[in-house]
Amino acid sequence: MNDVQKSVIVSSFAPEIKTGGQRIMSSPIQFQTFESESTFLHPRKGFSPFTERFEVRVDPLTGRTGHFSHFGAIKPQKLNLDSYATPEIKGFCPFCLENRDKVTPKFTDEVVAEGRLVRNEACLIPNLFPYDIHSGVLIMTDPHVVPLQELNETRLFDSLVLGVQFLKKIKAISPDLPYHLMTWNYMPPSGGGLVHPHQQYFATPNPGNQFLDELKASEGFLNASGANYWSELIEVERATGVRYIGQIGASSWLSSFVSLGILGEILCVFPDVFTVDQFTDGHVGDLVAGLLKIFKYYGATDIYSFNASLFFGPEGQRSFACHFRITARTFLNMRDYAPDLNFFQALLCEPVSVMMPEKLCMALKEYF
Ligand SMILES: [Zn+2]
Repeated sequence: MNDVQKSVIVSSFAPEIKTGGQRIMSSPIQFQTFESESTFLHPRKGFSPFTERFEVRVDPLTGRTGHFSHFGAIKPQKLNLDSYATPEIKGFCPFCLENRDKVTPKFTDEVVAEGRLVRNEACLIPNLFPYDIHSGVLIMTDPHVVPLQELNETRLFDSLVLGVQFLKKIKAISPDLPYHLMTWNYMPPSGGGLVHPHQQYFATPNPGNQFLDELKASEGFLNASGANYWSELIEVERATGVRYIGQIGASSWLSSFVSLGILGEILCVFPDVFTVDQFTDGHVGDLVAGLLKIFKYYGATDIYSFNASLFFGPEGQRSFACHFRITARTFLNMRDYAPDLNFFQALLCEPVSVMMPEKLCMALKEYF
């Protein structure tokens, strides 16, 4: 078989955006795409030459690449949520109410004097298997299996408000831990070890490579251009429109130019928030309002699972704005539960997406 591959840069441009008056200025943000194709002799077309297209994009902040290929070939798999509640699959769940008090840990007096933080159904406990100095697990609901449509406004708001309250508390106790973040695996395809809805909250000097790469690049962008990357990104995306989903209060929602997840990625930016102390209940409300819209889209497209993160930068900077990221997850099939991440992500650290960001944006706009 004679494979031919060519690669050309089809767009590497600094978009022009309108400022206050009629003046047009060029943005320092570069969107670079390598549009490529691969030609082979197709077995289902009498072994005649056939050309398949794919793209490699460069993240405008970090400079890391992501592949877009296999378009439309991966369909989200339906999950039988009822089966997760059956005794043989459910097994022992430490987060269920009948076990929670006995088997989950409590915070030390210095951190949370009452042992656990509670707000309605939301309950925050230390992780029995901590990943960091302060490693909180937030149990979001009383029920064990909670479908997306039942992760309602109250449950989301209570969970996020309580989690952010915990981060603010930790920041006051341990101001030497500079970075704060929330992470969230929902349902088994996301890698979550427990079906019972929960989030994790960290205060840490080691927030992970993605966080640190973004932090360094945001600072570099501000130093080089004098502009805040995140505010600039919102302006550029709003002006071009193809990845700008909408605005809710103080938050702007976009589909990311490079997706970390296989089914695309949605980014929510709070351009005026730089540390967790600045994140108010109003910001949580904006985040929840957007999430509910995304969950409607997920519900309509057979998406049952996701990963999400919320990043807060360190004190004394105005380059790294608070942002939330959510990527849908699925099994590739229900026959052998193949995960949707493989050597690309595990060994090449290269995301692959089958969903073009512009298509995802168009689909989501209907819900915003
Ligand atoms: Zn449970």
